[in-house]
Amino acid sequence: MASDCLFCKIIQGEIPATIIYKDAEIIAFKDIDPQAPQHLLIVPRKHIRNVLDLTTADNSLIGNIYQVAGKLAHDLGFAEDGFRIVNNCNDAGGQTVWHLHFHLLGGRDMTWPPG
Ligand code: AMP
Ligand code: ZN
Repeated sequence: MASDCLFCKIIQGEIPATIIYKDAEIIAFKDIDPQAPQHLLIVPRKHIRNVLDLTTADNSLIGNIYQVAGKLAHDLGFAEDGFRIVNNCNDAGGQTVWHLHFHLLGGRDMTWPPG
């Protein structure tokens, strides 16, 4: 828990969010500014700044996050059509919240390359 972190506050229930999934180590909630018809953020409960701070101790966590992403895509009905999982890292990567998170985007055709 980082006291000045927006996502830690959502995890602690201090700031409201529309939570779609939670387990012992992960929560997923709706992005407040959706970039697709379905846009969730999948977030570890543990405060990790971004992928640059991952260690081997986090390997199963990251595997679980991807497994949850696939399950949510399936449950929300866009798995077969296709979807995108995005992680933005540091300023040039577009990171604006400094707690590791993975965007799960679905419900429309994605374009490539990303902006
Ligand atoms: P990133 O820019 O990759 O760090 O992603 C941060 C995401 O957090 C953006 O897509 C924001 O729209 C989203 N966001 C910011 N504040 C909130 C909030 N209070 N609840 C849900 N999503 C948020
Ligand atoms: Zn945090």
